[in-house]
Amino acid sequence: MVFHPFFDPMYLLFVLPSLILAFYAQMKVRSAYARYTRVPNHRGLTGLDAARTVLGPIGLGHIQIEGIPGELTDHYDPRTKTLRLSKGVAYGRSVAALAIVMHEIGHALQDAQGYAPLKLRGSLVPAITVSAWVAPLLFMVGWLLGTPTLAWLGIAGFAVAALFSLVTLPVEFNASHRGLQLLQSFQLVDSSELHQAKAVLDAAALTYVAALAQTLSTLLYYVFLLTGFNRRD
Ligand SMILES: [Zn+2]
Repeated sequence: MVFHPFFDPMYLLFVLPSLILAFYAQMKVRSAYARYTRVPNHRGLTGLDAARTVLGPIGLGHIQIEGIPGELTDHYDPRTKTLRLSKGVAYGRSVAALAIVMHEIGHALQDAQGYAPLKLRGSLVPAITVSAWVAPLLFMVGWLLGTPTLAWLGIAGFAVAALFSLVTLPVEFNASHRGLQLLQSFQLVDSSELHQAKAVLDAAALTYVAALAQTLSTLLYYVFLLTGFNRRD
């Protein structure tokens, strides 16, 4: 029998719960963003205004700010020390815009302070880039040739991907925590707006939990396949 994981109903059984979670998380982010993007914040600040207010006083005056196309594409790039903001966030005057900018500045703070999980995550980037295509290939070849060692190497690759999404969690939760603190300490939002900001960031955090569930269930599926395969030998 020719093995093909993508047509294996067992594969669906393993990953379906995490796919549903991922779908739910995406919906939650979109709806929280849509909801809190309509209401202007009480100070009428844009995301860009808020970034400029905060960066200097926290010692990050050297951070560059650039525009990036798309929606919810905002991120901080530690290599170039650049804050990339989407149009909706940079020029939006909503609580959601402020929350997202402060979350990204949270990442910039992590970078400036050498926050360990961020460093670990960064060091895993080359490994996961390679393992994304090498791991399935190794597994497949190992499986087809009946060479468990090769297949286990593939599984090690899936494990690296799972580790990456695990390390992403503290990085993201901590950035949101720092972001909410900035919103408060610079009095960019009032207390009810702070709750809205938290709702937006919590929804975003859920997508990272879903990503972890996905990489873990994929890893488990391949381990399950291989351990079953060994028993047949
Ligand atoms: Zn983040």
